[in-house]
Amino acid sequence: MSEPSTTSQDGRPAARGVRVGAPFGVPVYFAPSWFFVAGALTVAFSGTVDSRVPGLGTPAVYGVSFTFVVLLYASVLVHELSHSVVALRLGLPVRRITVYLLGGVSELEREPEDPAREYLVAMAGPLVSLILAAIGTAAAVPLQAHTVPRLLVEEVALANGLVALFNLLPGLPLDGGRVLRALVWRLSGSSERGTAVAAFTGRGLAVLVAAVPFVLIAVSGSPTTLLSLVLFSLLAAFLWSGATQSLRIARLRGRLPELSLARLTRPAVPASASTPLAMALAHLEQQSAGSIVVVDHDARPTALVSESAVAATPQERRPWLPVSDVAIALVPGRILSADLSGEALLLAMRATPASEYLVVEDSGEVLGVLATTDVARIVSA
Ligand SMILES: [Zn+2]
Repeated sequence: MSEPSTTSQDGRPAARGVRVGAPFGVPVYFAPSWFFVAGALTVAFSGTVDSRVPGLGTPAVYGVSFTFVVLLYASVLVHELSHSVVALRLGLPVRRITVYLLGGVSELEREPEDPAREYLVAMAGPLVSLILAAIGTAAAVPLQAHTVPRLLVEEVALANGLVALFNLLPGLPLDGGRVLRALVWRLSGSSERGTAVAAFTGRGLAVLVAAVPFVLIAVSGSPTTLLSLVLFSLLAAFLWSGATQSLRIARLRGRLPELSLARLTRPAVPASASTPLAMALAHLEQQSAGSIVVVDHDARPTALVSESAVAATPQERRPWLPVSDVAIALVPGRILSADLSGEALLLAMRATPASEYLVVEDSGEVLGVLATTDVARIVSA
């Protein structure tokens, strides 16, 4: 529901939705689906408002109901900000927070380096939700019964309590799963083992959550509502796919050491901008090189020939087309230092997405070209 997570390493940001601000420097987005959900929840909660505070009248009932929904998601946002602020204090950059149907998600730029930080970031959200629940419960006591303030304070307190307890369930992708992962990591010394254990329990939770409506039928004897079936099915699917995704990322992290520029860089041949493409390609084959670098009169690289642009150029045009027509200019972000590897390499690539990068030694000497397809092959293997 509201786990801090790192996105898949392929560098493609998910759909962001509507940006609503950047508290503590963290951009906050509301997924487009959220606006439909807010409407549906307003309608669903209006019955409770009507029965708990009689005599309000229809417009006021919906107004109060909508206020509750806004406060509910404000609570989710505070929960996510708690994860993010602790992460920032521990030196972990936060890319964004997204609030959507089932809650929110804080995306960290990278995983915590040790189990202690993992534990602190994971605990921050549920802890703050529990504190809000306690404050709300205490604040509701002196308020007069059957009034709007009493209803709102009580329900928001209850919602925060539920958010805290649900998120503390010990399985990925929930916060409790992160806590479990940190504990196993600490005891075994292996973050992969921690992920495997917490992902396994996460899948177990998914099965249990899917079974809840049927258990309710068996216990109470009353037929379950379609809404609760849909809701629990969604939650179960969310848990299962989140746990599976965590496993996938853990396996991917296991492969990160294979990502080194020393290994992946293709040798390149230089060509001046006006060289016909066919001639440059012949030179490339002769030298058994993997890429073409466009150079100026002083042999300084100015652009990289795009493999996909070459592939899209018909054979008969290649003798007439200068290489500069299928090359993309070198901007600073497309020049990588040869000593980059693993996660640092992926971060550098994500900062400036491109299909080819120039790889340069510390001395300034050109080592060759990194093709993003070569990295993707390892990452998706
Ligand atoms: Zn959380």
